[in-house]
Amino acid sequence: MKVLHNVSLADRTSLHAGGLAKNFVAIESGDNLEAIVEKAQKPVWVLGYGTNVLVSDKGLDGTVISNCAGQIEVLGNKIRADSGANWDDLVQKAIDNNLWGLEFTSYIPGGVGAAIAGNIAAYGHSVEDSFVQASILNMQNGSVSVWPKDKLGFDYRNSILQAPGNENLIVLEANFSLSPSPRDELAYQSALKVAEEVGLKPDTLTNRRKIIFETRKRAGSILQDTSVGPWTAGSFFKNPAVGDEQVQNIIAHEETNVTKDMLLRQNIIHGGNRARVSAAHVLLAAGFHRGQTWGQVRLHPDHVLKIENLGKATASDIYRVVQEIIGMVKHKLDINLEPEVRFLGEF
Ligand SMILES: Cc1cc2nc3c(=O)[nH]c(=O)nc-3n(C[C@H](O)[C@H](O)[C@H](O)COP(=O)(O)OP(=O)(O)OC[C@H]3O[C@@H](n4cnc5c(N)ncnc54)[C@H](O)[C@@H]3O)c2cc1C
Repeated sequence: MKVLHNVSLADRTSLHAGGLAKNFVAIESGDNLEAIVEKAQKPVWVLGYGTNVLVSDKGLDGTVISNCAGQIEVLGNKIRADSGANWDDLVQKAIDNNLWGLEFTSYIPGGVGAAIAGNIAAYGHSVEDSFVQASILNMQNGSVSVWPKDKLGFDYRNSILQAPGNENLIVLEANFSLSPSPRDELAYQSALKVAEEVGLKPDTLTNRRKIIFETRKRAGSILQDTSVGPWTAGSFFKNPAVGDEQVQNIIAHEETNVTKDMLLRQNIIHGGNRARVSAAHVLLAAGFHRGQTWGQVRLHPDHVLKIENLGKATASDIYRVVQEIIGMVKHKLDINLEPEVRFLGEF
């Protein structure tokens, strides 16, 4: 195991902000994550592809393990993957093997481990829908156990692995069960509209993947590999659960331009299971606008929920904007907005 020192974490996160890892180990193909965790100086931070984190400018003590390598195996209708495998490679492999169930999550960036911890979702499909079980390492005592689906407590963009106090629990590998025939319909309006425009029927796996690519591209949801920015971590906030009065307040705001039915329906499709509404509409209703800029931090010019680093923003700059948004949304709409992006280190 090769330990590097004072490694920039800004270079390893999609927001390109934050400090140094005191010790840094990159997992390579064939490495055993469990053994590396055991040998590493504590505390250990397991990072995937860095597409959903904001790392403190003060950096991280102990050891950061960059877990971006792993195997994916297809066994009949089942797929087994190491937590460091790339999520979209797994989706592609499922499609190559004519297995249905993951195709709507095509092109979500990141690794298998974080996909489970955060129960990623898109276009009506959440990871929990195909998940069977995972091997979980308790980094505190070194024990490994197999967790079935019900033990993981999946919820909207969440699992028990993300609960406070569970930072020591990490996914080593996971199993998914898929179907040799279509499982779900494509029900998301914007994707259906794209399908019509590009002349593709959502009735084959490859067509679905193409439709999702085009829909995500139009939504600014394809991770751009750019050396100069702007950079993002995707949607920064979760869709909040709100009461009827708060829904009315959002609808009343002219920029949101939606009906109550539209507002609530959108969220069900995004994997919500309560009266959640689009966080983008919440931001607009609270008075924020697309393209709004604070120095080097900006709300995406088309997709207000994506907070961008224009090139030189520090993690503190981004954090301050996040706090301003949370405070203003609470003040104006009495809604508690929760970040989807995970904060690592001291803020
Ligand atoms: C352009 C863009 C589009 C996106 N679109 C979507 C979308 O459509 N739907 C969606 O749900 N998300 C979306 N995201 C968010 C992101 O893709 C997911 O959150 C993804 O799962 C992050 O994976 P990662 O490997 O980069 O995680 P990281 O950012 O490296 O880590 C995220 C968190 O997971 C933890 N973690 C990492 N590995 C493990 C492990 N093995 N075990 C336990 N915990 C672990 C980390 O400690 C951290 O707390 C998008 C992000 C971007 C940048």
